[in-house]
Amino acid sequence: VQSTAIAALIVDGKLPKPALAYMTDCGWESEAAWEYVYGETIPRLRAVGVDLQIIKSFDYTDTCRLVDDSGNVAIPAYQARDGQVVKFRTHCNAGWKVNVARRWLREQGVKRCENWIGISRDEARRAHSSPLLWCQNRYPLIELGMSREACLFYLGAAHWPMPPRTSCIICPQRDNESWLMMREKQPRDWARAVAAEELIQQVRPDVFLHSSLVPLSKVVFSGTIKHKRSQREEGVAKI
Ligand code: SF4
Repeated sequence: VQSTAIAALIVDGKLPKPALAYMTDCGWESEAAWEYVYGETIPRLRAVGVDLQIIKSFDYTDTCRLVDDSGNVAIPAYQARDGQVVKFRTHCNAGWKVNVARRWLREQGVKRCENWIGISRDEARRAHSSPLLWCQNRYPLIELGMSREACLFYLGAAHWPMPPRTSCIICPQRDNESWLMMREKQPRDWARAVAAEELIQQVRPDVFLHSSLVPLSKVVFSGTIKHKRSQREEGVAKI
């Protein structure tokens, strides 16, 4: 939503045209996200002379792996530790996206730049300054005082279709409604997410994509969690 709002602001001339525009593809975007990017974002930006480039993360890093040889998991997945459900630290965003983008920018000959990032006012805590002098972060939506709601309103008013969620289909930072939606409406994405979890569990059987610590394919998305632990032992979680 936020990145699309930036694109719409550029198309409308409310933000200046950037010298370069990119989106990283770490291989886990949803089919709907690509349909939107290729069907809406790229053509609309191209119409005003901005060429949105898709950077394949695998071309710029060999660390686009869910689990490394030592069993370290890249994504914020879940594990039981000392009777508690804990979430791993996120390494994927830096490894699969941020560092990839910086390498790509260098490859384009960029010596110094402002890197615009689609974070809205309501998410301002996620905004931070870059440690790199040559590549400073800038947050146009925060500067414009735009919340996510305001982005949605702007997109609607500018006649852009509502963009789908663009986080990875395997991202464990997803609520139940979103998992359920994927399972019901995007079966190919769902199958990939289930397969990715199985791949992780070949190396780390103790790691799960869902916070109930139940394999994704067995999570029952109905009701509320009451007895997480016993449900886990049964292999079923009521969510
Ligand atoms: S969306 Fe989730 S899995 Fe994908 S890079 Fe971001 S934190 Fe990692």
